[in-house]
Amino acid sequence: MKICIACGMPMKEPADFAMGDTEKDYCVHCSRPDGTMQSYDEKLDSFTAFIVRTQGLDKTAANHAAKNMMAKLPAWK
Ligand SMILES: [Zn+2]
Repeated sequence: MKICIACGMPMKEPADFAMGDTEKDYCVHCSRPDGTMQSYDEKLDSFTAFIVRTQGLDKTAANHAAKNMMAKLPAWK
C-alpha cells in the first residue's frame, strides 16, 4: 500500500490516487484538476483550512500545525 507523499493519506483504491493512476505518489486530494501535484503553498492552504474545520483551531494555530505536519512528509522535505 502506498501513502501519499504530500499528505500522508493511505491510498488503497485507484480512486484514492491522483487521476485514478496507481503509479502516482500522491492522492486525489493533493492533485490539481489537471493531475499535477499541488504546490507547497496550495497544500498548506488546504491543510490549514482542514485543521480549522476539523479541530476548531484559529487560522494562525492551524497554519502552524499544518507546517509541522507537512515537514514530516516526503514531498516537502
Ligand atoms: Zn495527499
